[in-house]
Amino acid sequence: MNVPDTLRQSVTTLTGIGSRTAANLEKLGITIIQDLLFHLPIRYEDRTRTYPIAKLSAGMSALISGKVEFIDVLPRGRKNLICRINDGTGFIDLRFFHFTAQQHNTLKPGAAISCFGEVRFGYAGLEMVHPEYTVISSPNKAITESHLTPVYPLTEGLNQNVVRKAVKQALAICDDKAQALRDWLPDVVLKQHHYPSLAGAIKTLHAPDATITTEALQNGSVPALKRLAFEELLAHHLSLKLSKHKAKAWQAPLFATDSVATKPFIDALPFKLTEAQLRVMVEITADCTQPHPMMRLVQGDVGSGKTIVAAYAALLALAADYQVAVMAPTELLAEQHYRNFSAWFNDFSTQIVLLTGQVKGNPRKEILLTLENGSAGIIIGTHALFQDEVFFHRLGLIIIDEQHRFGVHQRLALRAKGQQGSIRPHQLVMTATPIPRTLAMLQYSDLDISIIDELPPGRKPVTTSVIPGERRNEVISRINNWIDSKKQAYWVCTLIEESEMLQCEAAEKTAQKLTAALPDVRIALLHGRLKASEKESIMLAFKNHEIDLLVATTVIEVGVDVPNASLMIIENPERLGLSQLHQLRGRVGRGNDDSFCLLMYQSPLSDNARQRLGILRDSNDGFLIAEKDLQLRGPGEVMGTRQTGQVNFRVADLVRDADLLDNIPTIADSLFVDMPEAIVPLIDRWLGHNPDYSEV
Ligand code: ADP
Ligand code: MG
Repeated sequence: MNVPDTLRQSVTTLTGIGSRTAANLEKLGITIIQDLLFHLPIRYEDRTRTYPIAKLSAGMSALISGKVEFIDVLPRGRKNLICRINDGTGFIDLRFFHFTAQQHNTLKPGAAISCFGEVRFGYAGLEMVHPEYTVISSPNKAITESHLTPVYPLTEGLNQNVVRKAVKQALAICDDKAQALRDWLPDVVLKQHHYPSLAGAIKTLHAPDATITTEALQNGSVPALKRLAFEELLAHHLSLKLSKHKAKAWQAPLFATDSVATKPFIDALPFKLTEAQLRVMVEITADCTQPHPMMRLVQGDVGSGKTIVAAYAALLALAADYQVAVMAPTELLAEQHYRNFSAWFNDFSTQIVLLTGQVKGNPRKEILLTLENGSAGIIIGTHALFQDEVFFHRLGLIIIDEQHRFGVHQRLALRAKGQQGSIRPHQLVMTATPIPRTLAMLQYSDLDISIIDELPPGRKPVTTSVIPGERRNEVISRINNWIDSKKQAYWVCTLIEESEMLQCEAAEKTAQKLTAALPDVRIALLHGRLKASEKESIMLAFKNHEIDLLVATTVIEVGVDVPNASLMIIENPERLGLSQLHQLRGRVGRGNDDSFCLLMYQSPLSDNARQRLGILRDSNDGFLIAEKDLQLRGPGEVMGTRQTGQVNFRVADLVRDADLLDNIPTIADSLFVDMPEAIVPLIDRWLGHNPDYSEV
């Protein structure tokens, strides 16, 4: 058998792994021996030396040894066995809630034992609950280990010992067959960064020497860890790049780009396009005149004017007689796009239709028919657009707005939609959530990126203040003056719970209170549980200034565009992420007036929250805000719980290892050119052997 094959054998070929253990390992994505090598510890325990009891503190796990001072069974409440150990520097109690007569016998006063466990505060000082322990011949004969003990991620039915034994066997196979684990990182990279070899790094992380501290492993300064984190990040980046390469191999419709169609459209707009918008339009045009699918992300801060750019792409498709599907994350936004597109394409003979989850029965059937027979040229909707029952006649372009609300997987799943034979539609995705560069590399590398880095002229930055909820009455009277001066305002209610119902209830209560406090102000309430038609009429009334104050949940986060509303109060902003707050705040500052945003927090405010709100107060720059948010909250939070495509890493930590990312694109590019055979093995080893990743 040739060497690498050994590592591709099933884990069941190892000693001690039966079918049940194998099934449990599979839940962790471990099926072959190689997977065990890449199943890296989440933390370590230090059994390499004994700790003086006097130096223990609550929260740490440590190996200690000493003599049993006394043993006692406490009858109080739940019976438990207490055994006090003294090592000359101090004492600690071991506490057992379950114990046998035999245990009771071995832990005799005067016996020497060594034990390992987590230290916590007990009734009589520090204690360890259910530590592992061994009786030894004398306190200085404690059994220490030569390496730190790995603690692995587990799943129900598995225990540390089973995984530790299995990994040890896998490591032995590597040791035996020096070539078993192929190192795909180019030598220059290894030399430049002083990285150890792959096999060496893997071994170090599974069984770190006693000279390496658990702290060093935690803070990432160990070269072995750096190397593996680097390789893991590279693998993730490669998987997206591979996906991009494969997608580009498909055919796509060719769009007409003669200015006969585009010039009148642009000339008819009520404003002059910004340089940035024009530049992105040129990039889109170039993509759509290639016979391969465009896969482009347009990033631009809230209010930078992405919609018209998308409409321009739609125009190219229509001119070539193709259909366009525009997907928005909320009905409110879909409806707004529907109104805008209807106005922009008023002179076109094609039909524009709106399809959301709320359209049911016969009207739905009729709309579906227009998609299928091609009489609808532009179809705008929520994710309802991409259900199985929806068929397109000649779909040429998919536009996804506010894509960060959908997640990577949903986006990838759309690739195949509208495919006809070997032809796939072009894709344009738009987002206002500025993804820090580091995250973009791992989330959007399958896309080409265009950035609208300019706001339409005349926009003034929003003045933001952070104020305590105690000043609520003051704020309410300020609204009165505001409305008197013929201006409008938003009052946004937030809740931590993702539960829409609770959000709506809170907003309802607030609306009632405000109505009582502000009898002369026309107040309306907008939340996600209203019918589409109700939402639409409220939005229209607000737009037409028949409503002064709109009390809303975060449903207005995306899209809503009412220039005369230039004051926003956000209640409990400390509960939201910075990017989301920035996005909400983007609803104001759209007209010629000075705009204000009041972040009215609930006291007391934690240090971290104070810092975060301060960032928002001091900056209107979405990119800067996102970078700071990443530093303060970590990638998981920033990418958001709503982000279904969140990436989980084995060793890498995007905050700790951010410096590693700089080199990754260059190295990925050079692998594609010089060592393409490395790509699939690298992805396979870090992301698992999931056939999806290459095709989706
Ligand atoms: P976003 O990038 O947040 O999606 P929109 O596309 O909703 O922004 O545009 C925000 C507002 O700016 C809209 O009212 C739009 O009509 C207007 N707008 C877009 N481009 C320009 C421009 N070049 N000059 C002036 N106003 C513009
Ligand atoms: Mg938008």
